[in-house]
Amino acid sequence: MDCDIAIIGAGIAGLSAACAVSGVKDYSSILIEGRGVGSNNPSPLTFADIIDEFDLVDCCRETYDSFVFHNWKGSSIAHRLGREALIVLDYKKACAKLAERAVKRGTSTVLMERFVTGISEGENLVTIRLDDDTHIRSRILIDASGSSQVIASRSKKDGVSYYSHVYGGSFANVGPIPYKLCCFLLPNPSFGTGGGWFYSLGQGRASFGYATISSDPGPDFGALRENFERARSTFEPYSKYLANAHLEYSESGVIPISHAKRFVRHNVIVVGDAAGMATNWTCMGIEPSLRYGRLAGEMAVLALSRNDPPVLNTFQSLWEEANKDSFDRAAKNLAGFWSSDHYFWEWIIKNDLAFLTPAQLLDRLRWNRHLLKKHQILYRALRHRTRLVFHRGAHRAHHFVVTE
Ligand SMILES: Cc1cc2nc3c(=O)[nH]c(=O)nc-3n(C[C@H](O)[C@H](O)[C@H](O)COP(=O)(O)OP(=O)(O)OC[C@H]3O[C@@H](n4cnc5c(N)ncnc54)[C@H](O)[C@@H]3O)c2cc1C
Repeated sequence: MDCDIAIIGAGIAGLSAACAVSGVKDYSSILIEGRGVGSNNPSPLTFADIIDEFDLVDCCRETYDSFVFHNWKGSSIAHRLGREALIVLDYKKACAKLAERAVKRGTSTVLMERFVTGISEGENLVTIRLDDDTHIRSRILIDASGSSQVIASRSKKDGVSYYSHVYGGSFANVGPIPYKLCCFLLPNPSFGTGGGWFYSLGQGRASFGYATISSDPGPDFGALRENFERARSTFEPYSKYLANAHLEYSESGVIPISHAKRFVRHNVIVVGDAAGMATNWTCMGIEPSLRYGRLAGEMAVLALSRNDPPVLNTFQSLWEEANKDSFDRAAKNLAGFWSSDHYFWEWIIKNDLAFLTPAQLLDRLRWNRHLLKKHQILYRALRHRTRLVFHRGAHRAHHFVVTE
């Protein structure tokens, strides 16, 4: 079988790429998926405007106008955003919708339900071997294979890569929750060094879980599950909300959070989790997968139309221009950041997050912006210490609410 563009993976990144190429009738494309469309089925939190941009608004499970950080047995801070800026996506539904769009729009894209077992990269063609021993030869390959990292796993890694090992679930029969809760639960060594989440989903449902950051790509699901159960039974008020709830389905997996050094190799582009594009400060991979999946598809079409594979390198430079600084700044302190203790997170809530406006908070989540400057850290650390000495209440947990 021959085609112009082959895409491995019908997750959100591969499908976004498929949508970008399927409208172009001049080129044939094959989307190869081994486990079913949208098989990695989390309840991911993302930004309302990107979902609007990709016409997936009908795939939202819930929308939120506030965002909460909560430290176990400690402080919390709620930013009231003034609009429903955050949403939880129905991942499977969104993927099914994109798949329908990609395969229906033109006759040029087909979905092949097979597993890729091998790849050989040639000068002009990439050969992809499937589990039924057939081969596909393609002029361009887009690897959107998620945490399987089909291409990246073939090359030696330079430096340490980090992964978020996630374990949680979607629950039904959840107790009454005072308002729509969209909550990041701060890291804690007993529950997970990557932090956790609690999102109320309406109709007595909620998603809850914890993650652990590791340099090992393979998770220990037994240990993750124990951590999750510990958080579920002890982190109030979430443990109360979940006391009589039952698990509808579990949400677990791996999010690579160290970006690949090179996303483009001759006639191959790597995108989404396969390229480690999820933000390393919040482990959010939906927006980059949608945005750069589409760009990968557009770049593939451009390279074919100009018959010039080096055009694909533009993909690398556009990603770097928009993201490299933020990613690399966060990467510098990654190991220390994710293994910080209760007191560090108390400090962060009281001396950093409490000073951000809701708009700045959204920028922080999305782009890692509005970070404290060195002199601000020094001044606030000094002030914090003085308060701890002279104000009795300074040690106590504070519950902040920030409005615009
Ligand atoms: C539990 C959990 C919670 C998360 N929460 C959030 C969140 O709150 N916010 C957020 O933004 N992000 C979140 N993420 C991350 C986000 O879901 C991912 O970054 C995003 O889904 C990546 O999309 P993708 O298309 O790159 O990968 P995937 O969705 O993993 O798609 C890859 C596809 O490739 C297929 N595949 C792999 N290998 C092969 C092969 N050899 N042959 C054929 N097919 C293959 C797989 O079956 C899969 O369908 C979460 C992830 C998990 C696991």
